[in-house]
This record gives sequence, structure tokens and C-alpha cells, in this order.
Amino acid sequence: MDTGSLARPAEVEMLIGSRFEAGVEDAETILNPRTGETVMKLPEASMDQVDRAVSAAEAAFTSWSRTTPGERSALLLKLADRIEAEAEAYATLEALNCGKPRYLVLRDEIPAIVDCFRFFAGAVRTMQGAIAGEYLPGHTSMIRRDPVGVVASIAPWNYPLMMAAWKLAPALAGGNTVVIKPSEQTPLTALKLAKTIAEIFPEGVVNVVVGRGETVGQALISHPKVSMISLTGDVATGKKVLTAAANSVKRTHLELGGKAPVIVFDDADLAEVIEGIKVFGYYNAGQDCTAACRIYAGSKIYDRFVADLSSAVSGLRFGQINDEDNDIGPLISPRQRSRVASFVQRASDLNHVEITTGGKEGSGSGFFYEPTVIAGARQEDEIVRREVFGPVVSITRFDDVDQAVAWANDSDYGLASSVWSKDVTRAMSTAVRLQYGCTWVNCHFMLVNEMPHGGVKQSGYGKDMSMYALEDYTAVRHVMVKTG
Ligand code: NAD
Repeated sequence: MDTGSLARPAEVEMLIGSRFEAGVEDAETILNPRTGETVMKLPEASMDQVDRAVSAAEAAFTSWSRTTPGERSALLLKLADRIEAEAEAYATLEALNCGKPRYLVLRDEIPAIVDCFRFFAGAVRTMQGAIAGEYLPGHTSMIRRDPVGVVASIAPWNYPLMMAAWKLAPALAGGNTVVIKPSEQTPLTALKLAKTIAEIFPEGVVNVVVGRGETVGQALISHPKVSMISLTGDVATGKKVLTAAANSVKRTHLELGGKAPVIVFDDADLAEVIEGIKVFGYYNAGQDCTAACRIYAGSKIYDRFVADLSSAVSGLRFGQINDEDNDIGPLISPRQRSRVASFVQRASDLNHVEITTGGKEGSGSGFFYEPTVIAGARQEDEIVRREVFGPVVSITRFDDVDQAVAWANDSDYGLASSVWSKDVTRAMSTAVRLQYGCTWVNCHFMLVNEMPHGGVKQSGYGKDMSMYALEDYTAVRHVMVKTG
């Protein structure tokens, strides 16, 4: 992999207005999680650079917010085409920075990212709302959906380019201008995107700054000229965003963590469930807020389920030299791997728990952790309650549907869930009782740009993808004209 060319300063400059600039503050070490090697050191933005980025977005807002949906759509489509044309380069960069198998980025992520920009390019031209009319005699009322202003978008490290797409596409389609901060650990694809954006969009419509949360992120969310904050990240970070937003009553769009329950009834197609959990419990090494990580298995199938899942998971491949021989990649950092290892260690200290496969760090210099199954977990156990964000799935036995639903809902999180049964009535009646932003039946993890992704409870309340995201990134306004 040609990491030498990436080290060229011009490839990793921030976009502030129409200028490309390097950060001038402390440098963050960007690692390749697959090898543990340093890719580069990247200085973060100064407070002055953050301020200039926000000012550039504010200056651009006046004219960008007055463009027509058709004009914005055309530029979003151009951006989609450019990403598609450079799919190979983006996949290489994302694989380098996140350690993911490159073929999976190319197969799964890039097409969804391209489609996200195309979806919003179309969606903004067909927005709908209440009907204009004379609700007061002699006065005509109409509803508008107008842009909110400057949006500060703050992204996590698990799917860097996809998170940038989920944030930029609806915000820009809606007529907002944006300052986006990728995760300090994974800024490379956002910085590449900045180059293309600068060729397509007017000056200041999109600005990209890099740096840590407590410095650059905090400066962005506290900035008086920012009208809306969009965060995908940890619940603790979400609370900081809310505190900062409260000072100036900014709109917030929060996509926080998850701990997805998976209810497997005795009558489920076991082979189908095993195949599903093997993929969707461990995809992206479990660093996914919707990961199928908290399984409740019916008592009649429990023993076979544990045996079959453990056997299937022990066959997941990682750490192979040939990219396509890998099912999963490493964790993002040594810190994240230690965090995952400590969760598993604490679980294995419990007498009732059994680690049926995995449970150890991978060998070599990459940040790998073995795909792990934890059987016999109880509802009160930490491993059932807290988000691990690693390749670790717990299994808990349940006796009846009420118990399964109560346990599934007994969580601070409310992002994603799934129900597995051949009986459609049982599956549907269970799905409606679950307090989650999404419930899949006989599948898990399937996302599509026409449908919303977002949570309830401490998983947050912003919706990504779909018309609902466009609603989140626009403000409802009423205009009334005296006509009589
Ligand atoms: P994180 O909260 O540590 O960081 C997310 C982003 O917030 C980063 O860019 C970080 O620099 C920034 N940040 C941190 N502190 C900040 C502060 N004080 N002010 C402003 N910005 C700040 O999360 P992470 O470790 O990067 O990502 C993992 C988390 O994200 C997990 O909890 C995961 O579930 C969640 N996540 C949620 C979704 C979703 O759609 N709901 C998707 C992906 C990840």
C-alpha cells in the first residue's frame, strides 16, 4: 500500500472556506490498526482555524440557502459520481486508516455512500408538507421547510466516510452550510473528500477541520455562530453536546450508542440465525452501534444455538495477509482493544458465564481481538448491559416471550433490535413491543437510504438517512399572507 503519497502535506490539509491549510496545533498520530504502524502525524486545527471555518460557513449560508433544490441536487449528484469514480482510492484510504478489509469497504460501504448522496439529491426535490390554505378567513397560510444555518457535524471512527455522507448529504440538500470534524483517529477519507468538494461546491459551503473532541470538537459545539450540532458518537459525548447547545439553544441531532437485543424464538430457522449473527454480530469487528451483540435464545434451542454459533464464529477469519481472506478487521486502537479485553475478562470472572470461543487478543502487531461468544450471561451482567463495541456477543436463555421482551427493553439504549421466528404473528407482535428505533425480523443490520436510522432513549433522537433526516436538518416555518 502506498502510504508514502499520503504523507504529502497537501493530501491531508483541512478545508477552510476556499483555502487548504494544515492544522497548527498538537499532532495526532494516525495509525494503521491492521499493522500498528504510524501512517502520519496530523496537526489539529487551532481555535482561530475553527473560527475561520465557522465564519466561512456563515458567509456562504446567505447564497447557498437561496439556491433551488434542483441546483443543490445537481451538485450532490456530481459529488456522488466523483466518489463512485474514485471508489478504489477511497476504499484504500479507509482500509488503511481503519484496518477494515478493503474489499468490504468497496463492496458494502462505497455503494451505500454514493447512494446516500443520490438519495438526498432526489429527496430534496420532492419534499412534502401541509397544504396551503385559508385556515383563518382572509389569510393564506403556507408551510415552508427552510435551512437551519451553520451545522457543526462531528463524526466517529467506525465508518468515517459513511458517517460524513450521512451528515453532509441531508444538511447540504436542505440548504445548510457545514463545518465537519471527522474523528481524530480516522480523518483521512474526509480530507480526501474535501478536495473533491472544493471543486464542486461554492466556497465555504463545506469546511473540514481536524482535531480532538475536547479541543476542536468542543470549540465547534460552543461556537455562537453554529446553529445546529450533529453528533454520532458516545452517549457521554452526546451529553456534552447537549450542555454546550443549551447555552445558546442550538438544534441538536444525536446518534449515540447501542446494545442491540436479538430475540431468537424456539421456532426460528436456526441455520439462518447462526449465519445472520455470525455476520452481523461481528461485522466491522463489532464496532457498530447496531451490532447483533445481545442475544436472548429460547430455552428449547439454547444449547444447540450456543454450540452452533460458537462453532460458526470460531471460523471467522482475521489477520490474514491477503485482504479477501479476512471476514473482519482489527479494533481501531490499542485502547479500544484493551477496553474490549477488560469487558471479556470481567465477564469470564463470573461463575455462571462461559467463553465458548475467542476471549483473547490476536497475535501480531495489529489491534486484533478474537471473535468471542459469551454463553450463560444474565440480564444483570455488565456484558449484557454495556456497549462493548468489539467482536463480542453474549447469549442469555429466556423462558417466555414476556421475559424476552422485558429484558430486551431493559436497557439505557434504544437503537436497533431483531426478532427471529418462523411464525410471522409471533415475530410481529414481539416487534411492536420493542422500544427501539429499528426492529428487523429474521434479519439484522440491513440499512437502506430510503428508511431512517436512529434511536430512542439514550441512543439519541436524530434520524440519519431517509426523508426524516431532511426534516431534521430543516426548520418548519409558517408564512401567512393577508388576502382578504
Ligand atoms: P466519541 O463520542 O468518543 O467520538 C465521536 C466524535 O465526537 C469524535 O469526532 C470526537 O472527536 C468527538 N468528541 C469527543 N468529545 C467531544 C467533545 N467534548 N466535544 C465535541 N466533540 C467531541 O465516539 P467514538 O469512540 O468515536 O465512536 C464510538 C461511539 O459512537 C459508540 O458509542 C457508538 O455506538 C457510537 N456510534 C453511533 C452510531 C449511531 O448511528 N447511533 C453510529 C456509529 C457510532
